[in-house]
Amino acid sequence: MKDAVEYLRFLREIGVETVPRPLAIQLKNALETSPSPESPSVKGVELDVVARFDEMAAEVLSCEKCGLRKTRNKPVFGEGDLHTDLMFIGEGPGRDEDQQGIPFVGRAGQLLTKIINAIELDRKDVYITNIVKCRPPGNRDPLPEEAEACHPYLAEQIRLIQPKVICTLGRHASQVILNTTESISRLRNRFHKINGIMVMPTYHPAYLLRNASGKRPVWEDMQKIRDFLKENSDMYQRSRYGRDTGSR
Ligand code: SF4
Repeated sequence: MKDAVEYLRFLREIGVETVPRPLAIQLKNALETSPSPESPSVKGVELDVVARFDEMAAEVLSCEKCGLRKTRNKPVFGEGDLHTDLMFIGEGPGRDEDQQGIPFVGRAGQLLTKIINAIELDRKDVYITNIVKCRPPGNRDPLPEEAEACHPYLAEQIRLIQPKVICTLGRHASQVILNTTESISRLRNRFHKINGIMVMPTYHPAYLLRNASGKRPVWEDMQKIRDFLKENSDMYQRSRYGRDTGSR
């Protein structure tokens, strides 16, 4: 029952208003009586980490290490809490991100925000970035040489943030981070441990916009992330999301 209630809440968070009616009716009362746990306190970030991120963002602004420099509008370095235990990594900026210089702001980005909210966190609680910081033309996958040229920025972001969990979004990001050619459907649904960091591959939010059948698998992956972090991190105590929304 608890799983079904949580899945209904997840669907609601990501904007799915309709579920099979009997299930909706059955779960409505249970949702209304779900408890709302509380969370305290905020953790600080070392100034040298902030300074290094500012420095890297400036480097990316003038970076010409690969051909994407010629076609991009604005680079998209990354955004979020530098002291988080949860990082999301996609493959590269899309059109909206390229215009605004902010990761995941288009329709797929809005869905990602809802997915984050569904595991009782705020977008501000996590860090979001991409394999490459400049938009590949026509939203194609980054070429291997582009991913390799941009890799030092991502490696440094991961090194400084030291997340406990990385959620890779989509086939390309998952294959790059895990250094494999396995399909996303075979990679997802389990943690892969890389350098002490738990990596959970899942479907890209853009895929979910086209394929509603991907929502259940993503929810299963996100539950695993949430449960791991609740056990192994103080993120949920630090996050204000539950207190501000009353969702916990
Ligand atoms: S994608 Fe990365 S390596 Fe290529 S120009 Fe942009 S910042 Fe530099």
